[in-house]
Parts: sequence; C-alpha cells; structure tokens
Amino acid sequence: MLDPPWVSVRQLLLPAHCAACGAPAPPLARLPLCDRCGYALAQLIAAPYCPRCGRHAGSSAIAEGQCLFCRQYPIRHDATVRVGAYEEPLRSLILKCKHERQPELAPLLGRLLGERLAIAPWGDLVDVVVPVPLHWSRRIRRGFNQADLVAQALVRACGRPVQRRHLRRIRPTPHQRDLDAKLRPRNVRGAFAPGYGTGRLTGKSVLLVDDVMTSGTTVAECVRVLRSAGAKAVYVAVVATADYDEPGMW
Ligand SMILES: [Zn+2]
Ligand SMILES: [Zn+2]
Repeated sequence: MLDPPWVSVRQLLLPAHCAACGAPAPPLARLPLCDRCGYALAQLIAAPYCPRCGRHAGSSAIAEGQCLFCRQYPIRHDATVRVGAYEEPLRSLILKCKHERQPELAPLLGRLLGERLAIAPWGDLVDVVVPVPLHWSRRIRRGFNQADLVAQALVRACGRPVQRRHLRRIRPTPHQRDLDAKLRPRNVRGAFAPGYGTGRLTGKSVLLVDDVMTSGTTVAECVRVLRSAGAKAVYVAVVATADYDEPGMW
C-alpha cells in the first residue's frame, strides 16, 4: 500500500526542488520530484522486467518465470523485485544518496521498493531481510551503508526484521562498475563471509537488499554465502537493475 504523502518540516518551510534534477517541484507532492522526473519514474516503474533476474524483459520473453538470459546463465537467487531500470531519475537519486551523501533519500527509495515487494507473489515467504554489507572502512568513510538504509525503509512494508550479522564483508573491493565484466567475479570472490551465529539461517528464506544490481556478481557471491549458511531461499530486492551484455558470475 502507498504511504501517506512524504511531507517533512523542510518541505513546508523551503521552496520545493526535485530531489533528482533540482528543478522546481510541486510543493507537498507525494514524491519530491518535478513533473518531468515524476513522469520518467512512473515509466521506469511500469516497464516490464524478468521476475527471476530483474533484467528488462517484455512478457513475451518470459517463460516459466524466467527470461532468455536466466535460462542461458542459471542464476543463484530465486526471484527479484526492483523499482526500475538504472536510468533517470532513479540513477540520480541513487548517486546523490550514495556519493553526494544524502542518506535522507534512502527512505524514499526503500519505500518505492516496498511497494514493489508488497505485490511480489513470494513476499510473504520472507523470514529475514539482509542488506548487502559495506566493508567497515568504506562505511566509515561514507558514514552510512545505503543498502542498510533502504532495507530499514523496506521492512516497514514487509514487517520482517533486518538482520545484519548474517553476512559480513571481510575485505574492501574496488567498485564493480569500474571493472571489466570479466574481472568482476574475481573482485568479489571471497569478499563476503557468513556472519556470526549463522546457524540461525538454516531453513530460512532471506531477502537480500542492495541499491543497484549491475553484472550481478556481488549479489551472486552474497547468495552463495547465504546458502552455505543454510538459507533455504534467497530473494533479491534492488532499487535499480542495470542491464549488461555479459553475465558476471551466476
Ligand atoms: Zn526533476
Ligand atoms: Zn531473467
């Protein structure tokens, strides 16, 4: 269900500007976006995607819940929900949240993702919500983990607890987007480890949360670790998916 309008004291006191492009925005709108970005976001949300891997795929390309890509490169997780493709205005909202240190955008992104999760046929099967962790050194530099903030907003939609200790990032890795697709699996291999008290995941269905899924290598490595810790099923919720020509590690 949709939340009440996103109204803050700041919105009431300051001229409204679009959170994505900075243009004037209608005051007291449900989303802090100008008309152009609001329309573009609605288009992204309405675009069809594969329920298994999250890639763009029309309904005619889906068979038995998978697209052609999934059938060619079997993936490790059970299903995906996303807000939309990694295009404007989602791209700007994500980058401003992460790199311009605007963590106040994360609840908005989480709420949009929660609306998608609410209509996922498997949404009720989730037992725990696990954000993709940042290495501690990067978390200290940035001051927050955007996946964690999105997950916190998401749990208001699904009512399941966020559990951070099931998954640890045990070494820092260069940004996947800066690497050639062939190097991405090597970059994240061994970067994650089961958390403390991992026995508690045995037989559980996990919802893994991240902001962007690009080649899928980070998600695939996290899924491998969560399954090794006993997870029965792993579903993925990402704000945006970026289509890519070559698979990472599935
Ligand atoms: Zn805008
Ligand atoms: Zn697919």
